[in-house]
Amino acid sequence: MRAYVIGAGLSGLVAAEALSRTRPVTLLEASPKAGGRCRSYRDERLGRVIDNGNHLILSANARVLAWAERIGGADGLRTGDAAFPFLDLASGDRWTIRPGRGPLGAAAAEARPPGTSLARLGLQIARALGHPGTVAQAIPDRGPLWRAFWDPMTRAVLNEDPQDGSARLLARTMLRSFARGARHSRPVLAPDGLGPALIDPALDLLAARGADLRLRTPVTALHGADRLARIETRDGPVDLGPTDVAVLATPSHHAAQLLGHDAPPAGKTIANAHFLLPDSGLPPILALLGGTSHWLFRRGDVVSVTVSAAESAGLPATREAALETLWRDVAAAARAHGAAVPDAMPTARLIKEKNATFDQSPQAIRTRTGPGTKWPNLALAGDHAATGLPATLEGAVLAGERAAARLERA
Ligand SMILES: Cc1cc2nc3c(=O)[nH]c(=O)nc-3n(C[C@H](O)[C@H](O)[C@H](O)COP(=O)(O)OP(=O)(O)OC[C@H]3O[C@@H](n4cnc5c(N)ncnc54)[C@H](O)[C@@H]3O)c2cc1C
Repeated sequence: MRAYVIGAGLSGLVAAEALSRTRPVTLLEASPKAGGRCRSYRDERLGRVIDNGNHLILSANARVLAWAERIGGADGLRTGDAAFPFLDLASGDRWTIRPGRGPLGAAAAEARPPGTSLARLGLQIARALGHPGTVAQAIPDRGPLWRAFWDPMTRAVLNEDPQDGSARLLARTMLRSFARGARHSRPVLAPDGLGPALIDPALDLLAARGADLRLRTPVTALHGADRLARIETRDGPVDLGPTDVAVLATPSHHAAQLLGHDAPPAGKTIANAHFLLPDSGLPPILALLGGTSHWLFRRGDVVSVTVSAAESAGLPATREAALETLWRDVAAAARAHGAAVPDAMPTARLIKEKNATFDQSPQAIRTRTGPGTKWPNLALAGDHAATGLPATLEGAVLAGERAAARLERA
């Protein structure tokens, strides 16, 4: 009756927690740390705990919030007001997107970029929902809504260039959050990091239930005829008994290799630069246009900027030059908020997360599968499983829950 969970990222932990209520669980994780793409660590250069990358959770992400409750991590999350300040670094213009309360909240004038019309945005969202292609194909208009809505939202939500990202996936995600008004559009931040809110309490809970977490244990192959019978790891094989089950919760490209099936290929890089900058006057979240950075997050005296789909963002190749470029964005943003900022770059850290998301182009997302696999005792989890959600924490939690539920029924 043992459950094996391959991959101790968020999705694997969600599946492990559910399965550990009824049976013993073993987690097989390739890296030296659990958390996968959602992890916190102490950075010695900055002398602070940072996340591998800024993550935006919204109040619409009910499953992530319920997960934090379930494991006792909810105290590590803070929900802010539904207000997203924007700064155009090229023009200096500033505005705040503020979805109104109630079902018509998204129709409020403050819920849109200045000078854009509700009728046009509504038509464009309807077009994107019905379009089988990319965002750029679905929205041919390159007017103000393109620059202040479609382009930044494709990068923020899908980590794709509009020429690549699926229009339908983006539009559906917008309908689940911003389009439902303020109650579903509130930013949820983790002031002490994602790890203390979403990962560490789960590890404590699993340890208390006797789960066996094997770090530095990459799975190299899966074997079986009508059932998954053997998991090969770098440390040797694990043979499954007749009632044992397993969850495969690795990123998409690893799952495709292990199962020998089609799945979305690895996607694009997200770069994050973290700067030690006290008294910056910056808000906790700020959307940036007209620079290289797309979003800025401030946690205490650490100001972090995110560059999505970094391959095409014009980020210089060397670490120093990339940091200098992003520092110019941060310094300009802080000055726009009244701070006296030195020209010299402060202590900084650059983290480039390759394959931060799976390929979310229209062709690639058609290859999403799961939770079922060719073996009845193996379920597929991971943010790439066929949940209809993009590569997000919410998708990872939903996929983990569905994988565990499938095995409970099997
Ligand atoms: C920089 C960055 C910013 C992001 N921003 C946001 C955001 O703003 N909002 C949001 O909702 N989402 C965001 N995401 C996406 C989110 O982090 C992921 O969707 C989510 O963490 C995926 O979880 P997962 O468990 O599916 O996969 P992972 O976290 O990748 O976990 C998979 C685990 O499997 C392990 N593994 C791989 N191969 C093997 C093997 N052969 N054997 C054993 N173990 C293996 C890996 O080491 C890893 O621990 C961001 C991601 C990144 C990288």
